[in-house]
Amino acid sequence: MTNAQIPEDGPPSEMQADLETITSLAKRRGFVFPSAEIYGGFAAAYDYGPLGVELKRNIRDRWWRAMVQERDDVVGLEAAIITNPAVWVASGHVAEFTDPLVECLSCQGRFRADHVEANTCPNCGTVGKFSEPRKFNMMLSTIVGPVADESGRAFMRPETAQGMFVNFDNVQTTTRKRLPFGVAQIGKSFRNEITVKQFIFRTREFEQMEMEYFCHPATSLETHAYWKKERLRWYYSLGIRPQHLRLRDHRPDELSHYSKATADIEVHYPWGWGEVEGIAHRGAYDLTQHATHSGKRLTYFDPDTNEHLVPHVVEPAAGVDRIMLTLMLEAYEEQHLDGGDSRVVMHFAPAIAPVTVAILPLSRKDTLEPTARRIWEMLRPTFRTQYDDAQSIGRRYRRQDEIGTPLCVTVDFETLTDDAVTIRERDTMAQIRVPIAGLIGALQGRLAALEPRVPSLDEIEV
Ligand code: ATP
Repeated sequence: MTNAQIPEDGPPSEMQADLETITSLAKRRGFVFPSAEIYGGFAAAYDYGPLGVELKRNIRDRWWRAMVQERDDVVGLEAAIITNPAVWVASGHVAEFTDPLVECLSCQGRFRADHVEANTCPNCGTVGKFSEPRKFNMMLSTIVGPVADESGRAFMRPETAQGMFVNFDNVQTTTRKRLPFGVAQIGKSFRNEITVKQFIFRTREFEQMEMEYFCHPATSLETHAYWKKERLRWYYSLGIRPQHLRLRDHRPDELSHYSKATADIEVHYPWGWGEVEGIAHRGAYDLTQHATHSGKRLTYFDPDTNEHLVPHVVEPAAGVDRIMLTLMLEAYEEQHLDGGDSRVVMHFAPAIAPVTVAILPLSRKDTLEPTARRIWEMLRPTFRTQYDDAQSIGRRYRRQDEIGTPLCVTVDFETLTDDAVTIRERDTMAQIRVPIAGLIGALQGRLAALEPRVPSLDEIEV
């Protein structure tokens, strides 16, 4: 498997779903609802429903396992969302976290200048009638404490990264980690985005998964190259097809002044290539800034060379919501079956599927229910389960296909005499009969076989 450098325009998308299809499936099946819908919603805010929270949780868990628990060089952190405003002065966000805003002089619509195509107003279609771009700070703020004046002004963090920088010394001294080591965090971030569109791709409240990897300045470019591959590999492991992923190195004119290199992992969305994760080389910028502004020493003592140095930082930064949208688009397939029937299948990898095993008694008759419920109880500690006994078995299979449940367990009248059940597979619709005594092992085996193959680092070309 490779990710050969794909040409700028990329391949035509093989994602079958368009955004409307996924948005409506998400609402219909309880993945994502418009926020506070009974009040008419709220611009670009969403509430995650029962299946959406499971999917998000699985994405976070996969990331945390790969980035923290399975490694010996990364530890976790959870920092406050609203913290000392001095952090955001030092980081440069108060002065510089801006997007260029233009206003259409015809309809007064406001847009991010780089989101306006062909000098045409996305709202009213007027060509070439925009105000000069002005800097618009994207941080959301609030007042902390009982006195409603500016002295209480504080910011909602626009990224989780600064929590790792301001805690660099605390983490390093308590864990006694030696370079290179990373600090990872998952949590909400807030940005007052000018234009919000494309469902959960860009919202004002969203969740980030970021890791600051501190390393010796001499090895930082190598480290950056390593993380590009490692992160790409993680997306393959979720079942995203290589032709829908690419790594795009930033051009020198796109780099921040302190960055030696940045690459984005991009996904081919129905509207074109878009960033799902940024892998930035932040140099010594953040630690230096915080040392200067706080007056505290933020250096690392290298016991091998007896020198104090300011580590460089490589930062893979991803968005949970954006990954969830990517996975839903990627998983969707509408299949036309023999006999004129059709079905919608979400081909989620088992590790991220909201439900892994559904338990379906063939009939609602009282005779099957106790056995089916007993099997459900037996499976709950090991799998993410759902029990469904409403309507015909065919319709129940379709419902499970549409939410991406890899396996269904059907309990029928024979079960009462042969102590066996049928496992039905989502992707092939194949059915096999297995004894209840060996059911957990059989299901685990099937699920493992359905996981995408994870390539080794050597197999990935970037
Ligand atoms: P963009 O160019 O799309 O605005 P960015 O380069 O500002 O994104 P980063 O600061 O690199 O984004 O943030 C890291 C990740 O956080 C992004 O790759 C994305 O997955 C996620 N993210 C950033 N902004 C948003 C948002 N407004 N809504 C949802 N996810 C976001």
